[in-house]
Amino acid sequence: MSRVYNFSAGPAVLPEEVLKEAAEEMLDYNGTGMSVMEMSHRSKAFEKIIGDAEKSLRDLINIPDNYKVLFLQGGGHQQFAMVPMNLMKNKVADYINTGQWAKRAMLEAKIYGKVNLIASSEDKNYSYIPDLKELKISDDADYVYICHNNTIYGTKYNELPDAGDKILVADMSSDILSEPIDVTKYGLIFAGAQKNIGPAGVVIVIIREDLITEDVLPGTPTMLKYKTHADNNSLYNTPPAYGIYMCGKVFKWLQNKGGLEAMKKINEEKAAILYEYLDSSSMFKGTVVKKDRSLMNVPFITGSDELDAKFVKEAKAAGFENLKGHRTVGGMRASIYNAMPIEGVKALVEFMKKFEQENKK
Ligand code: PMP
Repeated sequence: MSRVYNFSAGPAVLPEEVLKEAAEEMLDYNGTGMSVMEMSHRSKAFEKIIGDAEKSLRDLINIPDNYKVLFLQGGGHQQFAMVPMNLMKNKVADYINTGQWAKRAMLEAKIYGKVNLIASSEDKNYSYIPDLKELKISDDADYVYICHNNTIYGTKYNELPDAGDKILVADMSSDILSEPIDVTKYGLIFAGAQKNIGPAGVVIVIIREDLITEDVLPGTPTMLKYKTHADNNSLYNTPPAYGIYMCGKVFKWLQNKGGLEAMKKINEEKAAILYEYLDSSSMFKGTVVKKDRSLMNVPFITGSDELDAKFVKEAKAAGFENLKGHRTVGGMRASIYNAMPIEGVKALVEFMKKFEQENKK
């Protein structure tokens, strides 16, 4: 068996220990004589799996008791709709556009009400986070929406917009669990699992209890009301059971690693190795302004499409997979989520140095 260094933006690398454990339990989970995939979601064994997963997540992020944790399906895109359907009481919301994922959320919300674009970094191809001091939050906005870490452009909020008395909603699909956060600053956080948590098919929602009501937009389907899932502990219908089991394992792995403070330290160390090289290289350049750089997704370019393509091809042959940038941006992108070992980042930088040497004019 040989494993590559997988820099995919998602679905992405998972901790090897977790995959091995899951493999060992594949045919007989904990003496049940069956795989978690074959198990009733109403069984005692699965109740414990989902309960333990929630407990570990609460412990990791320090989620206060007045927030519910939901394990849902439909990915980030379904949240783009569920957020307005459930929270747009006045049918008005403020959005900050930091690239495709924020924009898609904004376009979806427009189906349900008025969307105010209160800031955008579109003018410079989303290479920065807009100045938050100048923000004008709308008086009648039901919530303020941000994409906390933009997976495609590699930008991250290091400070949060001051939403005043408005609900702050954050898409944390690509940076949840990468460092500690203060949940009380948000009304709702959501994250697709397939980047920094587990397999695709699970999306986690952390929502303040007072926002979970029957007062949703008319016509909202039962399955798209947060209340349906909150009232039933994410077991209203058949949940993505195997995915939740894998998420639980990753949460345990993170707890064993020392939790989110420890992850932040290692993530900063990993990202610094790559960014320092990008800043010193005369061939490769990072595309994001320094203060807004993501710890998780690192886009970079050579300035030549030909050289970019050559690099991606040769990197792949050398065992560095999925370095091609998003199809809307080009260039390269290295996603270095929690499960990417520091050795992978070091090896990538060594490979980049060698490539630079061999290809310099
Ligand atoms: N938000 C962010 C930040 C993302 O990176 C992505 C997907 N790559 C999405 C939302 C969309 O998620 P999904 O594909 O699960 O709908």
